[in-house]
Amino acid sequence: MSHPNDPKLKSFIDVAADSDFPIQNLPYGVFSTPDSAQRRVGVAIGDFVLDLAALESEKLIDAGAAGIFAQPSINAFMAAGPQTWSRVRMQISQLLRHDNATLRDNASLRQRALMPRKGVQLHMPFVVSGYTDFYSSKEHATNVGVMFRGKDNALQPNWLHIPIAYNGRASTVVVSGTPIIRPQGQLKPPSAEVPSFGPCKRLDFELEMGVVIGGASQMGTRLTEQQAAEMIFGFVLLNDWSARDIQQWEYVPLGPFQAKAFGTSISPWVVTREALEPFRVQGPAQNPTPLPYLQQKGANNYDLNLQVDLRADGAKDYAPIACTNFKYMYWSSVQQLVHHASSGCAMNVGDLLGSGTISGPEKNQRGSLLEISWNGSEPIELPGGDKRSFFEDGDSLSIHGWCQGEGYRIGFGEVEGTILPAK
Ligand code: MN
Repeated sequence: MSHPNDPKLKSFIDVAADSDFPIQNLPYGVFSTPDSAQRRVGVAIGDFVLDLAALESEKLIDAGAAGIFAQPSINAFMAAGPQTWSRVRMQISQLLRHDNATLRDNASLRQRALMPRKGVQLHMPFVVSGYTDFYSSKEHATNVGVMFRGKDNALQPNWLHIPIAYNGRASTVVVSGTPIIRPQGQLKPPSAEVPSFGPCKRLDFELEMGVVIGGASQMGTRLTEQQAAEMIFGFVLLNDWSARDIQQWEYVPLGPFQAKAFGTSISPWVVTREALEPFRVQGPAQNPTPLPYLQQKGANNYDLNLQVDLRADGAKDYAPIACTNFKYMYWSSVQQLVHHASSGCAMNVGDLLGSGTISGPEKNQRGSLLEISWNGSEPIELPGGDKRSFFEDGDSLSIHGWCQGEGYRIGFGEVEGTILPAK
């Protein structure tokens, strides 16, 4: 039996070479259809969604507990653990193979279990238990530090020793396509003597990956590198919408609060850690050497291309504004998780860890408007003549991500959102 990651595998479903969802991917999502409003778990394959609840009721896949996919989230499946994740992925891979007749030659089953992706509605794939956002790109932290504190104090003294983070809000993590209402808050531009309350004027995005935690840890215990790695179920694209003017006034001394609490968008398909295995790469050298509990032996970064596009209010098309790679992250997701539990903090199934804004070394690799427009001093010019330092109402942002294999790609689909006026 070939491993589900085997690049030679082919499905009986035609999948274009540039599709995000070949048989080697098999990401999990939650969907409903016009025929059935019941939310259930599916897997994306080419232009189709495979209904796992339907296959489970036919006893063609077995996750060890009945009805585990006839649920409005993948949390129960994640809680079943890594051995079940691998077994089910193998079962799905087998059913979709070009040389397996079970589903291929059963027209009535195909009718019930395979539906065009265009016709389904995608929902939040998991119930977010807790949301923590990190700050792990050295390039991003340096850019922001230079803007706010000058070149000599760009990186805070702790940054090279600790994966810095704050606790975000799980309540406002939303699936791609959900509009984002411009937040309001306390603003105090340098010219003002006292703060005022009103709509954010410096609304931004942050290009991030989200780590989806599929395991739990006990309060009072810590995690090894291996335990942390095995608790990672998968990854999504994440846009950490950010109100820079609110942030600048409120962040001292406890870090961001309302500047980040109004909305975080994620892509609807959770790409499994297992599907990303072939794309592991070594992260940047870490100097100084981290404390022993943060040292890792494995290559825990991923060669994962990221593309950001902006569509100005009224414009017909998206225009590219940044293009970078997840591999540049200084602290890996495994190090972030190890650190998160290092005090004895309990981790839960459904926890979401934002990677932190992903910026690369080049100018076109910056993962936020704050950096792209250099705090508003260098507005970007879009096709059609629109200029932007920060978002205007009606603007949309779209992020794509993919790992490029030989003749196929492991893609993440899209996370997209449009800014609506403040209420
Ligand atoms: Mn962030």
